[in-house]
Amino acid sequence: MPAEDRGPIRASSSQYSSSSDALHTVFGYDNFRGDQAEIIQQVIDGGDALVLMPTGGGKSLCYQIPALVREGTGVVISPLIALMQDQVDALSAVGVRAAFLNSTQDQEQRRGVERALLNGELDLLYLAPERLRVTATIDLLDRASISLFAIDEAHCVSQWGHDFRPDYLQLSMLHEHWPRVPRIALTATATEQTHLEIQKRLQLSDARHFVASFDRPNIQYRIAAKNAPQQQLLELLRSEHPGDAGIVYCLSRASVEKTAEFLIQNGTSALPYHAGLDSRVRAANQSRFLREDGIVMVATIAFGMGIDKPDVRFVAHLDLPKSVEGYYQETGRAGRDGLPSTAWLAYGLQDVMQQRRMIDGSEGNAEHRRRLGQHLDAMLALCETVECRRVQLLGYFGETSTACGNCDTCLAPPESWDGTVPAQKLLSTIVRLQRERNQKFGAGQLVDILLGRSTARITQYDHSSLSTFGIGGELSDQEWRGVVRQLLAQGLLAVQGEYGTLIVTESSARVLAGDRSVMLRREPERASRPAKTRRSAAVELPAGASPVFERLRAWRAAESKEQGVPAYVIFHDATLREIATATPNTLAELGTMSGVGENKLAKYGEAILEVLAS
Ligand code: ADP
Ligand code: ZN
Repeated sequence: MPAEDRGPIRASSSQYSSSSDALHTVFGYDNFRGDQAEIIQQVIDGGDALVLMPTGGGKSLCYQIPALVREGTGVVISPLIALMQDQVDALSAVGVRAAFLNSTQDQEQRRGVERALLNGELDLLYLAPERLRVTATIDLLDRASISLFAIDEAHCVSQWGHDFRPDYLQLSMLHEHWPRVPRIALTATATEQTHLEIQKRLQLSDARHFVASFDRPNIQYRIAAKNAPQQQLLELLRSEHPGDAGIVYCLSRASVEKTAEFLIQNGTSALPYHAGLDSRVRAANQSRFLREDGIVMVATIAFGMGIDKPDVRFVAHLDLPKSVEGYYQETGRAGRDGLPSTAWLAYGLQDVMQQRRMIDGSEGNAEHRRRLGQHLDAMLALCETVECRRVQLLGYFGETSTACGNCDTCLAPPESWDGTVPAQKLLSTIVRLQRERNQKFGAGQLVDILLGRSTARITQYDHSSLSTFGIGGELSDQEWRGVVRQLLAQGLLAVQGEYGTLIVTESSARVLAGDRSVMLRREPERASRPAKTRRSAAVELPAGASPVFERLRAWRAAESKEQGVPAYVIFHDATLREIATATPNTLAELGTMSGVGENKLAKYGEAILEVLAS
């Protein structure tokens, strides 16, 4: 129904004259970041926008401010039902009138929200996409005055992506049904393919595209050789992130459980999260992670989309992610507040074997397996690079950059060395076993042969009579495993069957024939731990400000507990740090701090000044 044919409605009249007025008054920020101002103007002017911006880039303001400036209610489509309450709380805290409609509400609650919407009392309404399948919802929106549609997590429309939601496909109806209402689609997923798919499926052909740099300079990227992963993780937490909030990703439910238990036994406040847990336990754990300070969430990748906790200080991966795209999204959950954070991945031979096997055994056609293989190859290339990790990561998303100085390979450059001879020794051992004995083995036995060890299995198979027995003394056990891993990563070896036996590939022949050399990466002694570059949030403050910051944090913790909202809904760490450093004496001074808008100043100003004076 065209807008002019609609019956009489009471539109919520806008309280803000301009976008910068709303930015200062409501959110307490001084300036727009990146493309925010332009994106916001595009939507205020009634145009469509497609926004690709990394996590933490500031996407929310891009639809929240137009919703405040334009007449009517901004409708936000989001798949993240479990987070809607927090989003609404965070908006209410700054005085924005927001509500949501989803399956968690009873009829009375829904009625209340519907009434508020029709009375023009809402600036923003969050909706789960499946609501739009219901005619009653469409009728409701038809009777309301809609200022814009924001399609959050727009990559959920991509059928090839890992977050595909069938309900997103029907969102093209927004355009068909409400052709005059501007739409803004937003995502932190960056590949060209996803970008085009969003445009096509959401019928955003007239939209202006805003593609931000995906660099997250405050995140330090590090990939370490996996030896004793739990112990390595514990060392990372103890030496660099004591008391910090973080996420640890594991591939399986079992390893989530084991790792969480291990961390708890070692004095860390860790919680598990995976799809096998009862949904109430899952919701409770997520809520504690968001509300309490310093919780470590040990999770499968089922956790994290849309989590907008700003002070996640590290994201650790104990297993190799399946794609660079997924990895970048997951690590992007660290450091939304722009403060220094760590992305740490432990990676080893078993990871490569396991993933190659999973791909071979996966359902789906050859094309599907080929795509999985390409994703894995890109991930392996990132792990094995001797160049800057960030250059490689951004390159994957089509962005060129220069060495960052803040990743493990920049901080402790690994050497590359000519591994042709060891590669030939390993490959010829495999070839001989196959040709002379019709046998295949996994990495363990091959390394034992090369090192000339006398184990029970060596005796059992009479492997000491092989001509390659004991010819690999120049490398250690660990180094040989590194060679196997890298040959696998380079496609010069392949895994076969469930026991992980190794076989040569077509490309290996050229190495054996001496027609191709093999460059390998030598792990720097302590690649996993570059020079101490940052400690917990409090430590980087100027002398004297730390105790003030801690007092402010304690005040915030009590306040958030009393209100039952996450601490960051009260104030972000970044804001508390600024206050602790500047120690304002008056409400007027306090009001100039970034993140202190009118509402929060009125609500908390006096209390903050008291904490500062105490
Ligand atoms: P995204 O949704 O893109 O991941 P958010 O919208 O959550 O990012 O914003 C990330 C953080 O940056 C939030 O803490 C937000 O308050 C803050 N922020 C966004 N825009 C600005 C700005 N113009 N000035 C200061 N802080 C901002
Ligand atoms: Zn770098």
